[in-house]
Amino acid sequence: MRYDLELYHQLSQYTMKVVEEDMHYWKEEEIPVYQGDPKILFLGTGGNPANLIEQARQTGGFILYLPGFTLAVDPGPGVIWHINQNNVDPRGINGIFISHGHTDHYLGAPLLIEGMTRLMSQRRGVLLLANAILEEGLISLFHQGLHQYHEGYVGGPAEVVTLCEGEKINLTSEITLTPVKAYHGKENYGFVINTPDISIGYTSDTNYIMEYEDREGTTKQVEKWIPISPPGRITQFRGDLKEIFSQVDYLIANISYFNLFATRHITAVGLAHLLKGSRVKCCLMTHLDVCCTRPEPMAEKMADFVRDLTDIQVLVAEDNREYYIK
Ligand SMILES: [Zn+2]
Repeated sequence: MRYDLELYHQLSQYTMKVVEEDMHYWKEEEIPVYQGDPKILFLGTGGNPANLIEQARQTGGFILYLPGFTLAVDPGPGVIWHINQNNVDPRGINGIFISHGHTDHYLGAPLLIEGMTRLMSQRRGVLLLANAILEEGLISLFHQGLHQYHEGYVGGPAEVVTLCEGEKINLTSEITLTPVKAYHGKENYGFVINTPDISIGYTSDTNYIMEYEDREGTTKQVEKWIPISPPGRITQFRGDLKEIFSQVDYLIANISYFNLFATRHITAVGLAHLLKGSRVKCCLMTHLDVCCTRPEPMAEKMADFVRDLTDIQVLVAEDNREYYIK
């Protein structure tokens, strides 16, 4: 066997040097815990099956930066690409929250778990999720940290916590997360996070309006594929969600549509009812179906509709944008 021995040594030394640096970066380097003002970075503002494949809007969920705790929420497909594009350091993530087992909410989670646990080298971070996700086998045993067949990988989430409605979870000594039942798919939860200064709500995907009177006074049930007619009065809705989310300072609402598929989604029409008379200071609309984005960008008009009815600041969340929570 004839080869250039000098080149061999050069490549060998280079390989060792870079791999050692990488291993130091991933496994040893200390990084500071986020201590800045609370903020949200959207890695995805799109939802539902067509958007999932078309990626008219991204589907990576969002990162909630709180003083002392960084939480990744509903990391859908693309999350790893988007955290790299946005210079998010996965080594700094302290927890991952998965609301329910639909593809646009969980599919990127295994990758994020590998980042959070420093390439599965440490027991680190907390995985918060609906038990149904585990029952369906959507998160592998390896990514739950229960690995037996991956020699050398000793890491995984330090804790896997299954969510229960109303059961408060301490993220830090000062920050709590309370799961809120969502009515969509199987087991599903949004949350309310309380810090000493602020409360933040996340609806997850959920239905909200169940029955209404149209402007002629005819009572109608919401039905799949039938848009909500211009309502006169909402007669049945998820009162628990209105009570809980109207008390938060900041609300992240997965609306999906203007007035369609209310059997499964809040819709902008439902959001206007939920926010009316609430103490919410700012609401970010997200989880938008493709129909909100193309062929015409209609999401802003939906936000106008909600704003006009509620006098509350309503923003359309945009991909790769940070929003400070004040
Ligand atoms: Zn869903």
